[in-house]
Amino acid sequence: MQRQYVAPNEEQLARIRAEQPRIQAALATYSDGTPQLLRFVRPVEGRESSPFGLRRYFNGEPRRPHSGLDIAAPTGTPVRAPAPGRVIDAGDFYFNGNTVFLDHGGGLVTMYCHLDRIDVTPGQLVERGDRLGTVGATGRVTGPHLHWSVVLNGTMVDPKLFLQP
Ligand SMILES: [Zn+2]
Repeated sequence: MQRQYVAPNEEQLARIRAEQPRIQAALATYSDGTPQLLRFVRPVEGRESSPFGLRRYFNGEPRRPHSGLDIAAPTGTPVRAPAPGRVIDAGDFYFNGNTVFLDHGGGLVTMYCHLDRIDVTPGQLVERGDRLGTVGATGRVTGPHLHWSVVLNGTMVDPKLFLQP
């Protein structure tokens, strides 16, 4: 773990603070209409490397429980929309790296972090299976993987609730 991600300097802290409202706004998105699909397909093929809710430590310091599901895959592996939606926001964030936020309607929002490349733009409509970008290792990571979060009316929930068992 690079030190800048455990103990950011003043400039980095200013950037992190500035990004918080943008992230919160994206995750709090509510649009009318129910989601077209509640059964998701996996956004990327790969090994599940860290489950939702896992308690973690970075350099011995406790962190909040894991807010998503990590799927390990080589850099460049396509990341696909698990259900139809609209791109709320997309950009480079300090901790989350290159990130895409999708609105599926009715308060169901999904987030894709640490991407190597982003292939969508805000406002774009996507169908299930459309490419959002590629797996990478941007932001606070130790290796290439997708961090996938699912938010329901402002609360992070386990993405596996929406996958076929
Ligand atoms: Zn993660």
